[in-house]
Amino acid sequence: MGRLDGKVALVTGGAQGMGESHVRHLIAEGARLVFGDVRDEQGQTLADSLGPGCARYVHHDVTNEADWQRVVEITTSTFGRLDVLVNNAGILRRGTIEKMPLAEFRQVMDTNLVGSWLGIKYVTAAMKSAGGGSIVNISSVEGFAGTAGLSAYSASKFAVRGITRSAAQELGRYGIRVNSVHPGGILTPLLREEAAAFASDTDGAAKVFGRMPIPRLGEPLEVSRLVAFLASDDSSYCTGSEFVVDGGMISGPGY
Ligand code: NAD
Repeated sequence: MGRLDGKVALVTGGAQGMGESHVRHLIAEGARLVFGDVRDEQGQTLADSLGPGCARYVHHDVTNEADWQRVVEITTSTFGRLDVLVNNAGILRRGTIEKMPLAEFRQVMDTNLVGSWLGIKYVTAAMKSAGGGSIVNISSVEGFAGTAGLSAYSASKFAVRGITRSAAQELGRYGIRVNSVHPGGILTPLLREEAAAFASDTDGAAKVFGRMPIPRLGEPLEVSRLVAFLASDDSSYCTGSEFVVDGGMISGPGY
């Protein structure tokens, strides 16, 4: 028995990294799901590698309102209901406020914040019809502290906490729970690109993370297990809350 048996999920940004891990783990826990991304070849290859009848890949740009409407419709018509949304898609752009072009700031806000807001907006009716649901918004430890060069990313991840709390207040009466997840350094393509920017390579980044209470980078599956808990009825009394999975990164005085 999986903890998500009978549940239908929608995962954004599922073609690689943590999204791919969430797709694999939610299925392993018994869910059927639709996952989207803008990396269509990678997404379709992943879908083809999963067991028959449990997952479907669709092109889904989270910044596009019409895409959201289409993807929710595909999910309910393919699997008959919608119980879980994982707002995972996200991008990171580095640059000081002085140097970052406004268009880049807006692109980050559009993907990380507006994308999650649209997700909540368009799954609500389907979740009401299902008698309830769980929305998991992926924020970051950057949602608690700012970092030089990450103003857009940090602002977007702080804001995800705000919409999580507002949505929890709006939707609790319908049995829809809304929580945020705050990963620290997790080994994904995004982190590899970041590591190249701030520590020349992944080994350099690992040294930075080696000073933490759990002295290593996290694996995507270690976040997926938390996502599955929040998606499942095991977390039936949790809503409007922030769940940190960071190896203790933000627990110490240095953060
Ligand atoms: P990743 O870059 O490996 O994967 C992100 C996925 O989102 C990619 O497949 C990408 O194509 C997709 N995506 C980007 N823009 C999109 C759009 N407009 N519409 C749909 N899909 C889009 O990154 P990751 O590390 O797996 O990150 C997943 C989430 O976790 C992000 O929200 C990220 O901010 C967050 N996060 C990552 C870390 C980390 O250390 N890796 C830490 C904290 C939070």
